[in-house]
Amino acid sequence: MKLIRFKKDDEEKNGLLINGGLVEIPHSLLEASLSPFDDLERKDFYLLDEVKILPPVKPSKVVCVGLNYQDHAEELGMVIPDEPVLFLKPPTTVIGHEDQIIYPPQSHQVDYEAEVAVVIGRQARFVNQDDALDYVAGYTALNDVTARDLQQKDGQWTRAKSFDTFCPIGPWIETELDPSNQKICMKVNGEMKQNSNTENMIFPVEELISFISHIMTLQAGDVIATGTPPGVGSMQVGDVAEVNIEGIGILKNEIISH
Ligand code: MG
Repeated sequence: MKLIRFKKDDEEKNGLLINGGLVEIPHSLLEASLSPFDDLERKDFYLLDEVKILPPVKPSKVVCVGLNYQDHAEELGMVIPDEPVLFLKPPTTVIGHEDQIIYPPQSHQVDYEAEVAVVIGRQARFVNQDDALDYVAGYTALNDVTARDLQQKDGQWTRAKSFDTFCPIGPWIETELDPSNQKICMKVNGEMKQNSNTENMIFPVEELISFISHIMTLQAGDVIATGTPPGVGSMQVGDVAEVNIEGIGILKNEIISH
């Protein structure tokens, strides 16, 4: 099923995507630890264009993986890492589907990175790989927007990855997805820029969850960005970036001037 957060009449609501529209549900299934659907009192039905889609979660942190696609490592001529390289994006970077990415004045090279995002469903600490997928609520699309020039200048990544609006996620959470074999694409202004498959991940989702949970506690709603495939490039003001993940959908955002 597809879980969505949306705004209607100035109120934030939760819903399920059904037949091209959405049905409001009384609470977030994520907060309720994915309680069975049958218990849900179903409320109003809306068409998607009648509502404003919100980011599907409010994470306490977004944990990102630096280099996690075999084909991207080959493209860069980089040695395959023996452990995941991690960094964080603050929750203030998060925006939703059709929200605008603000091009910051400090940068002259802002890049897209199409990624699959794992949404954690319940608190995870010291989790084994075998159990790791039990902690997943679902999956969504993410654009790990990066001020590449600042990343290179600073030598570490905090500033480059942390501008407000630099983490579009959405449009919703798909709870029934096999993360090990899905197409992942990025289009800018309709032109294909990245085109790969999650089967090219160096560290699969279960290994990432286990690895991260041995460092920090993952809370329900936290997001893991699983790395980007080859074809990373720049965006300009006025461009429209679309992350398309098979089985999930399209996350679309326009880039605007500050
Ligand atoms: Mg990335």
